[in-house]
Amino acid sequence: MQLIPPFVKNLPRTRIVCTIGPATGNVVKARQLIRAGMSVARLNLSHGNRDEHFEYVEAIRAAAKEVGVHVGILADLPGPKYRIGTVDPDLAITESGRTGITVNQRDKFVLTAERVHTTPERGTVWPAGLHHDIRPRASILIDEGAVELRVDKIDGVEIHCTVRRGGFIQSDKAVTAPGNTSTLDYFTDETVDAINFAIEANVDFVGLSYIRNREDLKSVRKHFTDAGRNPSLVSKIENKQAVDNLAEILDETDAIMVARGDLGVEMPLHLVPMVQKRMIRLANEVGKPVITATQMLESMRDNAYPTRAESTDVYNAVRDGTDAVMLSAETSVGQHPVAAVKFMARVSKIAERYLDNDMLRNRRMAIIDKEGRRAQINSIIAFDAARTADILRSKAIITFTESGTTADRVAAFRPRTQIIALSPQTRTLNNLSMRWGVIPILVERLTELDQMFDYAPEIALAAGVAKENDTIVLVAGVPIGQTGSTNLLRVITVGYDDRGSA
Ligand code: PEP
Repeated sequence: MQLIPPFVKNLPRTRIVCTIGPATGNVVKARQLIRAGMSVARLNLSHGNRDEHFEYVEAIRAAAKEVGVHVGILADLPGPKYRIGTVDPDLAITESGRTGITVNQRDKFVLTAERVHTTPERGTVWPAGLHHDIRPRASILIDEGAVELRVDKIDGVEIHCTVRRGGFIQSDKAVTAPGNTSTLDYFTDETVDAINFAIEANVDFVGLSYIRNREDLKSVRKHFTDAGRNPSLVSKIENKQAVDNLAEILDETDAIMVARGDLGVEMPLHLVPMVQKRMIRLANEVGKPVITATQMLESMRDNAYPTRAESTDVYNAVRDGTDAVMLSAETSVGQHPVAAVKFMARVSKIAERYLDNDMLRNRRMAIIDKEGRRAQINSIIAFDAARTADILRSKAIITFTESGTTADRVAAFRPRTQIIALSPQTRTLNNLSMRWGVIPILVERLTELDQMFDYAPEIALAAGVAKENDTIVLVAGVPIGQTGSTNLLRVITVGYDDRGSA
């Protein structure tokens, strides 16, 4: 029985999220990405169409099954964000693999709420509404500042502008008016379409772009629960409002993403590193996963090697305590998607060698005094599992977990020892794909405690993570089958039954 494909043991503890697109949306590429280290596949629903996204989902699921691992699927909703409409195919030019049109400094350009093809003179801004939010002399950025416009006048649904910084415009790129709060309802038509896709495709994670507060989150969650789905919600922190409301968002969300692309447009770029570090620290404290995203290896879109700064960026994010690092254009449309994942895995592994696990563990521990008594018990057992395994240099922490929460809790305390999560629920295992250091394995449901004690060393041996006389740490919640509690910790020496006879 091969429980874990051998390559999995060489992957970093840090999870790698890859955005899937034309460069990687097939079984062959998905398989290569998985072997290189992809643990979560992201679909950016602001790009491409529904049929393509269904194809990508099928390809990822087929590849994961073939390779024998659990890969989560993250569907990223557009959210209340303005975007530029489709570039006129008759006028589009292709440059360095990107297709679009060019606008030059001092050109006149009209943004309109009417549906037109984007040309060098005019383009649709969608959803309709920017003309209500904006004033003359305001600055408008397209594609994170690749093009900057200055508003001359607003005439009905048309915003007449002068190009301040010329550049390349591609279809669907973000249109931002820094400092202007978007008054759009969270559920734009595009967002509702994307939610319906996520429901139909039964994805594991949903990325909430442009989340602003707890209420946005609650209303999105309700859409899913009303449809009988319960994906984990990843709040993308990408505007000032979300940064200001981070505590309440962290309270409500399942995970956060440091969405540096939009964040660097919505707030001064020089503040982003400070905000990134703060977000990682706060997410670590409450024990929720945090993804660091965007432009991590951007130059690998075109080049076979990243820059020194990019390599250092990934290293630092891992050392700071991020659970996951993300690739966007590098894997969706880039020339070297598999090489980018391999590089990310390599630099993450080096960073993990120098990770201050004790500092990260204590960071989480420091706030458990603020938790209620039951939560404190769960956290203390998880903390002790991590510490015990590290002191004993155990080969694995084995968690039996129905809902995933026991593995979640242990991972939040950043053990040096790898965590093996055993669950009868595929959904649980897919959800754990975003969790730092967790290897998910599907097992049959166990009903007796003694079965767990027998099964844990068998699994450790069969998975090739331990041999006779090694110790493993078992952590679980009893009564078995009831979700939510983590209250049992036992050290097992493989090949030695210390239970004695009654
Ligand atoms: C970001 O802004 O960093 C991000 C991840 O979102 P998107 O890719 O949708 O722009």
